[in-house]
Amino acid sequence: MELITLPRQQERGKVWLVGAGPGDVELLTLKAFRILKQADVVLYDALVSEDIMALVPVAAEKIAVGKRAGKHSAAQDEINQLLVTKAYTRKNVVRLKGGDPFIFGRGGEELETLVEAGVAFEVVPGITAASGTSAYAGIPLTHRDHAQGVTFITGHCKLASRPLDWQSYANSQNTLVIYMGILNAQTIKQGLIEAGRAPATPVAIVSKATTHEQRSFIGTLDELDQLAASPQLRMPALMIIGEVVGLAQNLNWFNPQSANCNVAQTGQ
Ligand code: SAH
Repeated sequence: MELITLPRQQERGKVWLVGAGPGDVELLTLKAFRILKQADVVLYDALVSEDIMALVPVAAEKIAVGKRAGKHSAAQDEINQLLVTKAYTRKNVVRLKGGDPFIFGRGGEELETLVEAGVAFEVVPGITAASGTSAYAGIPLTHRDHAQGVTFITGHCKLASRPLDWQSYANSQNTLVIYMGILNAQTIKQGLIEAGRAPATPVAIVSKATTHEQRSFIGTLDELDQLAASPQLRMPALMIIGEVVGLAQNLNWFNPQSANCNVAQTGQ
C-alpha cells in the first residue's frame, strides 16, 4: 500500500511506540506513564488493559486498533497509515502495545513506515508477557539446575506451510515460551515430542497473567492439547514448556483474587 503524506506538516508530531506490559497497571514503566500523560492521541491494541487506558488523559483521542486471532479490527496497512496521518496532524502520538513492542508486536514494521514518512519516533520498552507470566506464575525461565537458556517463539504462524524447527526447540535443557500458541497446541505437542522432547516434560498454560483473572493450567507435554482446550481458559494465554515449570509448586506466590490490593500494607 502506498503511504499518503502531507508536505510541510511533519515537524508537528512525533510517535512514541510504548510497551504497556502484560496487564497489571503497576508494571508500566515510569517513562511510559509520563508519555501517556502527555498524549494527544493514543492508538492502542486489544491487549492493553482497561486500567492502563484509564491513565490516558480524558481529552486525548483514543483509537482502538486491536487485533485478535481471526478478528482483525484494522489491517496493518491501515494502522501504519493512521500513525503517519496522526503524526502529521497531532503533537504527541502514542502507539500503545501490550507487553513489549518489539516482541511479536509488529513494532518494527510500524517504525519502518514512520521512517519512510519522515516521522520522528521513540521506543519505550515494556515487560513482555513471558516475563510477566514467569514472575506471577512462579516459573523462573532459567535456573542453574533446570534450564540454561530460554527461547521465545510464536505458535501463530501457519505451522503447516511454514514449519517450525522443532529439533532446535526440543532441547531438554532449554525453556520454551510460546506466544499465540493455544490454537496450535496439538501441532506443538506433536512437533516437540517427535523431535525428542520427553512427553513428561512439565508445561504451563497461563491465561490473563498478572491480572486478577490469572489462571495457570499445569500438566505435561503430552497433555498440552487437553490443557489448551480447558473450558475455563481465557485469552490471552501463554505456554511455558520445560523443567522449570515444576518450580511453580513452591514459588507460586501470586494470589489473583487479591490482585487489586497487592501492595503490602505496613504499620497501620
Ligand atoms: N508484544 C506482546 C506480545 C504480543 S503477541 C508482549 O511482549 O507480551 C500476543 C500474545 O502474547 C498472546 O497471544 C499471548 O500468548 C501473550 N500474552 C500477552 N499478554 C498476556 C497475558 N497477560 N497473559 C498471558 N499471555 C499473554
